[in-house]
Amino acid sequence: MELKVIAVLGRSYCGSSILNLVLGSHSCTFGAGELYRTVMRPDKAYCAICRGHCSVWTPDTIQRLNLDNVYETLAKRTGADTIIDSSKVPGWFSKAMNARTNVEFIPTLLVKHPLRHISSFVANQFFRDESLPHRDAPETRQRLLSFANEQLRKTLQAYTRILDNPTFQPHGPVRILAYESFVADPDSALKPTLNAAGLEFEPRMLEYLKQEHHPVGGNTGAHLQLRLQGKFEKQARHWIEHSNPDRSWRRYYAGTAAAGLNIDDKFRETLREEEVSAILAQVDYQRLCAMLGYQEKIV
Ligand SMILES: [Zn+2]
Repeated sequence: MELKVIAVLGRSYCGSSILNLVLGSHSCTFGAGELYRTVMRPDKAYCAICRGHCSVWTPDTIQRLNLDNVYETLAKRTGADTIIDSSKVPGWFSKAMNARTNVEFIPTLLVKHPLRHISSFVANQFFRDESLPHRDAPETRQRLLSFANEQLRKTLQAYTRILDNPTFQPHGPVRILAYESFVADPDSALKPTLNAAGLEFEPRMLEYLKQEHHPVGGNTGAHLQLRLQGKFEKQARHWIEHSNPDRSWRRYYAGTAAAGLNIDDKFRETLREEEVSAILAQVDYQRLCAMLGYQEKIV
């Protein structure tokens, strides 16, 4: 049977780590996470859950991986016939699709409401910049807006590059999956992607925190949920307690962990009302909303 790869495209903080866990909880799949790291950045490739001692990602396995064997190696090791590759970066998938004619790719662009998405960049990148004064300092708030505008521009550019990419065309139209739809109704939202891989939604996918996962790379918030459930709970709690509340959102993520799949509305905490208004007035913001079918305002 032909090997299938669900290729998750998008930008950082789009929710791909949670999507990887949910899709990877299907009985026929393996959620590999940011697979490009194993081939292009082996120094940064390790299991986000087990860290050093993983049964799937041994240093020896990672060392032997290349574009010609990566999907087959994982299929053989895990028994899955569909691999979830949440690399997100179009460059990796272009290379993979050009090189691998015997693999069927299902390209899926995961998007999030631009206001929510920008707020994730602000929380996870901007506020973590050690050179910034305190979060409430006027200088910080000023720089925040130009950072937000830059991210809007980059997001628009990235989506255009993904949707117009000729190497993706032979694999069918790139499906756009809205994070909000995925969270509200995973069964219906994931149907087109799963069906393209010849799969049906399984209830166990909603119990993703109870399944075994070995994703490479990904988002701390999503994996913290998982680590708080299992044998890594003690270490996860230690991380949360020792995180700096002014720079890190671990406490926030730990607080929402019990809720499972949830809409990320931390823009209400990261952005002030006048900043939201300034972002809403940006042309790139309005273009993004129109492109993805989102209302400009989140009520
Ligand atoms: Zn692992």
